[in-house]
Amino acid sequence: CQSACSAEKELSAETQRHPCYSFAGHKKYARMHIPVAPRCNLACNYCNRRFDCVNESRPGVTSEILTPQAALDKFSLVKKEIPNLSVVGIAGPGDSLADWEKTRKSIELIKARDEDTIICLSTNGLLLPELAPELLALGVKHVTVTVNSIDPKIGALIYRHVRYKDETLTGKEGAELLINNQLTGIKILSAHGVLVKVNIVMIKGVNDNHIQDVVKTVKELGASITNIMPLIPAPGSVFAHHEQTSNKDLEKMRQLCETDLPQMRHCQQCRADAIGLLHEDRSAEFSRSEPYPKK
Ligand code: SF4
Ligand code: SF4
Repeated sequence: CQSACSAEKELSAETQRHPCYSFAGHKKYARMHIPVAPRCNLACNYCNRRFDCVNESRPGVTSEILTPQAALDKFSLVKKEIPNLSVVGIAGPGDSLADWEKTRKSIELIKARDEDTIICLSTNGLLLPELAPELLALGVKHVTVTVNSIDPKIGALIYRHVRYKDETLTGKEGAELLINNQLTGIKILSAHGVLVKVNIVMIKGVNDNHIQDVVKTVKELGASITNIMPLIPAPGSVFAHHEQTSNKDLEKMRQLCETDLPQMRHCQQCRADAIGLLHEDRSAEFSRSEPYPKK
C-alpha cells in the first residue's frame, strides 16, 4: 500500500537491514532470537508460561534458555553459517526487561563481538521508564512494546496482576501503572530516535473496539509502526477457550488503523529462539544439549 511504501523509503540504512521493520528486507536478512530472559513481571491472561511470550512469539516452547555467554557462543556459530544474519533480538521467553541483567550482558557481549549486528528487543514495557536510559546508552535502536489497551478498565480484563518493585497490583490499579509506564517509555525512546514498534493482541469482545485508540495514542507518542496480532488461545491460559481472532477481522482492523500508522503484516509470531529468515525457522538446527563451541 501507499503508506507502507513511503514509510519504507524513509527507513535508515540500518533499519533497511531489519527484516521486521523493513518489508523489502524480510526476504534478504535473517534474525536470531536469543532466549536469555525467562522471568516476567506480568500475568497476561493469554499467557501460559510453558509457552513463549506472546510479545514476540507463537505458542511453542523454546527448546533452551541460554546464559549471556552461551548466547554469544551460539551467535558466533550462527553468524558463520548464516552470513546475512543482521538482527539479534531478545524476546523472552519472559520479558527482556524483567530479566534485565541477563539482557544487558547479552547485548554488551554481542555488540563487542560484532558492532554491525542490530540489537532489537521486545518488552511488555513495565520497566521502560527506568531502563530506557540504559537501552539508549547501549545503542539499542529498535524496541517493540506490547500495548493491548490504554484504558485501565480494559487492561484489568487482560492482566491478572502486575508485579512492580516487590508489590503485586491487580485489577484497574495494576493496569493503570502498566499503561502509564508503557506510554512514558514509548515517549522517551521515540524522542531519542529509537524506532518503536507497538504490538497489540486483538482479543474479540475485550479490546477489539479499542484498538484504534491505542494506535492513535502511540502514534502521538512517536511509535513508528503497529503490529496487530490475533489472540492465539494458549492451552492452560485464562483465554484458552476464548475465540481466536479471525484473519478477516484482523485485516479489517489493520486497514482502519493504517490511516494513522503503517501496519506490519509479515510478522510470523516467532519463537523466542527463532533463527533464520522470517518465513523459515532453523532453530532446531542450532539447538544443542552440550555447550556451544567457543569462537
Ligand atoms: Fe507472558 Fe509475555 Fe505477558 Fe509476561 S509479558 S505474562 S511472558 S505474555
Ligand atoms: Fe519479527 Fe514478528 Fe518474528 Fe518478532 S515475531 S522477529 S517482529 S517476525
